[in-house]
Amino acid sequence: MSVSLPERWLEDHPYLRQMADLCGRIDRALADLPLPPVAVPAWEAYREDLEAGIPLLSSAGARVDLEPAGALVAGLVQRLEAEPLPGPIAAGVRALSAELSRTPEVSRRIVPFLLGDDSVDASSPGLLRFLGWSVLARYLRPVVEAFTAWRDEERWQRRYCPTCGSLPAMAQIAGVDPARHRLLSCGCCGTCWRFRRTQCPFCENDSHRLSGIQIDGEAGLRIDFCEACRGYLKTYDGHGQEQLLLADWTSLHLDLLAHRRGLRREATSLYDVDSLLGV
Ligand SMILES: [Zn+2]
Ligand SMILES: [Zn+2]
Repeated sequence: MSVSLPERWLEDHPYLRQMADLCGRIDRALADLPLPPVAVPAWEAYREDLEAGIPLLSSAGARVDLEPAGALVAGLVQRLEAEPLPGPIAAGVRALSAELSRTPEVSRRIVPFLLGDDSVDASSPGLLRFLGWSVLARYLRPVVEAFTAWRDEERWQRRYCPTCGSLPAMAQIAGVDPARHRLLSCGCCGTCWRFRRTQCPFCENDSHRLSGIQIDGEAGLRIDFCEACRGYLKTYDGHGQEQLLLADWTSLHLDLLAHRRGLRREATSLYDVDSLLGV
C-alpha cells in the first residue's frame, strides 16, 4: 500500500504529530457542528470598496453576516473539552470554555476580535484566535470560493488579504513559464491572492531582490526573505499539495530554521499555540 504524502510528511517530521492530531480533532469537531449557510454578497455592491483596497469582511457594501460563526466558536470549544488534548492546550480550552459560558459578551465579540479589535480580553488570546479562525474559515469557505472566482486578480495586488485583511502566512509560486506568478496565502481565512513576485509584502521594498533559501527534501518548500527588512515568507514552489504545504503548521520547522538565521517572522501566524506544544 502506498503511503500518502501527509502520512509520509509526518513520518519525516515526527515533531509535527501533536499539531496534526490537534488539527484533526478540530476538523472532526467542526464537521459535527451545525454550520449555517452563508449568503454570498452581491459583488457589484462591493466593487468600489475593492478598488479602494477595503477587504471584503470590512466592507459595509458587501455586508457578509459573520454573527453565526461567532456563536459557533463556543460550540467548538465545548466539544474540544471532551477530547484528550495535550496538557497546556487542554487547560487553555477549559479556561476558554468557562469564560465563554460566564461572559456571553466575549462570545458576541469574537468576530471583531478575529478581525483585529484587540480590546477583547480573553485569557488565551492565541488559542481563541486559532479556534475562532478555524470556525470562521470553514463558515466562509463558499464566500472565499465565490470571491476568488469573481475577483480580477490584477485589481487587488495588495500585501494584505482581500477577504479578511490579514498579512499573508505563506506564498506559492504558481503557473507555468512564462506566466509564473506569486500567490500570497492567508493563514486565517484561506484566501490566496496574487502579488508582485519580487516585492516584499512586509516593507513593500522592491529595490532589493528577495533571496531564497532552498531546503533539501522539503517537497518544494523554501524560505524567501527580504534583504531590506529581514522578514521572510515560507514559499511553496510546486503544485498539487497546497492543502498540506500551505497549512503553515506543517512547516513550523522552517520557521525555526529562519529564526536561527536571524530572519524575522512578519507573516501572520495562528500558531502561537505551538509554543505551548513545545514544537
Ligand atoms: Zn484572509
Ligand atoms: Zn521587506
